[in-house]
Amino acid sequence: MSGPYDVLVIGAGPAGYVAAIRCAQLGLRTLCIDDWVDEQGMASPGGTCLNAGCIPSKALLESSELYVMARARCAEHGIDVGQVRLDLDAMMQRKARVVATLTQGVAALFQAHGVELATGRGQLLGPGQVLFHPRKGRPRQLEARHLVLATGSVPAELPVAPLQPPWVVDSAGALAFDQVPRRLGIIGAGVIGLELGSVWRRLGAEVVLLEAQDRFLPMVDVQVARAALKAFGRQGLDIRLGARVLGCAVRRKRVEVRYQQGEETLSERFDRLVVAVGRRPNSHGLAADEARLLLDEWGFVHVDEHCRTNLPNVWAIGDLVRGPMLAHKGAEEGVRVAERIAGRAPATEAPVIPNVIYTLPEIAWAGRTEEQLQKDGVDYRAGRFPFAANGRARAIGLTEGVVKLLADARTDRILGVHMIGPQCSELIATVTTAMSYEGSAEDLALTVFAHPTLSEAVHEAALDVAGQAIHVARGKR
Ligand code: FAD
Ligand code: NAD
Repeated sequence: MSGPYDVLVIGAGPAGYVAAIRCAQLGLRTLCIDDWVDEQGMASPGGTCLNAGCIPSKALLESSELYVMARARCAEHGIDVGQVRLDLDAMMQRKARVVATLTQGVAALFQAHGVELATGRGQLLGPGQVLFHPRKGRPRQLEARHLVLATGSVPAELPVAPLQPPWVVDSAGALAFDQVPRRLGIIGAGVIGLELGSVWRRLGAEVVLLEAQDRFLPMVDVQVARAALKAFGRQGLDIRLGARVLGCAVRRKRVEVRYQQGEETLSERFDRLVVAVGRRPNSHGLAADEARLLLDEWGFVHVDEHCRTNLPNVWAIGDLVRGPMLAHKGAEEGVRVAERIAGRAPATEAPVIPNVIYTLPEIAWAGRTEEQLQKDGVDYRAGRFPFAANGRARAIGLTEGVVKLLADARTDRILGVHMIGPQCSELIATVTTAMSYEGSAEDLALTVFAHPTLSEAVHEAALDVAGQAIHVARGKR
């Protein structure tokens, strides 16, 4: 390490590593400290996202979907693949290779951009000062003009279901089972529960999700959430709503879970139990007491709209601060903070953040729901188009789902988009691009989309805002 540094970033997840690279691009001398190491003890930058989140989960979602395709869907296409056998070990090795390629890629990007990476823990001592605990060697004090805190989040614990690996695990454990559990219990039917529940269901597990809330996916548009619940039910995900877990115990290599649903106290036995009840900011011990870094009541580092903390030249980004816990939200904050440090103002004030649940069908949304618009008293118009009426969806054989576009009734500006169906994770970008330019439903309606594509469903939903959808009769949406 060879200071002095302009910027020191603590944490090399998608928020921190992106901030560090952008700082270096802007000519700032940058050091990034991160404590994630792989099984060999080697630095593994990329944070939760690359090591134990977005990337390994999507690798397993893809592999498990191919397995289902080979077992169940190839025959429909007239392809006889014979006996299909699962090699879970090979599937996990592939996942590990995908992760290693990407984490090494971050290390290579650091080198290419001139960001120094130091492996170990950082602790904020005060403005411009960090105590660095290297993996090997004695702690030392480091200084930089600006500090960026990006230590991410960790799984939230549930006191009634403490982790007891390998029986009771968190999402990281559920990404690394060495066998397909015969019966898998998941506490929490949120994003992680649904994605990882889908993986293990597809690979053959009986999956039961115990969800405390009565309403399924409350952050999602009601119509989309209802369609999703039906689709997951058909796939065999047993989702029990209003289920409050009371306790759990490991007996004879099985986990017994007691829970309350309505007036009834029930119990279930599982081979493995996953606790997926949200994540909490990783702020414990991040700052020495004397630093006086302000946290909110949930442990998030308190920041203003520009990610400034209460301390001069100390910034915080990503899962560590308010807002959705999403990799792209953190990365965007990283870029914006780097630009502010370099004295530039970001291009737009409030970016549009898309949300995606990578199940099949996929669920994606951005902006406000109909419920929120009604609550806010906004006069809006909705356009809808079902994938069942889309030629490409028919050709692919994935016709479940709908695209819904919400636009201001007076200005036609797009206020929200909600979709469930094939490849919605990709389709959402069409609409968020339009929303980023403050586009209208008519802007999308006037755009020519290639035929046959799934994105034509977005086009038709935009046309439908003005009652002009071509491929569906009104009232059939
Ligand atoms: P993190 O990625 O958590 O990185 C923080 C880094 O800081 C880590 O490397 C950590 O070890 C390090 N660190 C912590 N404390 C210190 C310290 N004191 N000193 C040095 N280093 C430290 N989001 C999506 O957008 N899309 C998805 O598909 C998606 N899938 C997910 C699937 C799962 C199973 C999980 C668990 C999460 C998923 N997420 C997804 C969420 C996403 O992973 C997070 O939003 C994202 O990683 C947050 O980025 P971050 O940089 O703020 O923090
Ligand atoms: P989540 O907030 O999506 O879901 C947690 C669920 O657990 C909620 O439905 C909640 O009601 C339920 N719950 C809470 N306490 C409970 C209890 N005691 N008993 C039963 N149910 C309970 O959180 P998550 O699924 O753990 O994911 C954490 C974060 O990671 C999310 O904020 C998400 O943004 C991020 N993530 C994103 C993606 C993606 O973008 N595709 C994928 C995975 C994770």
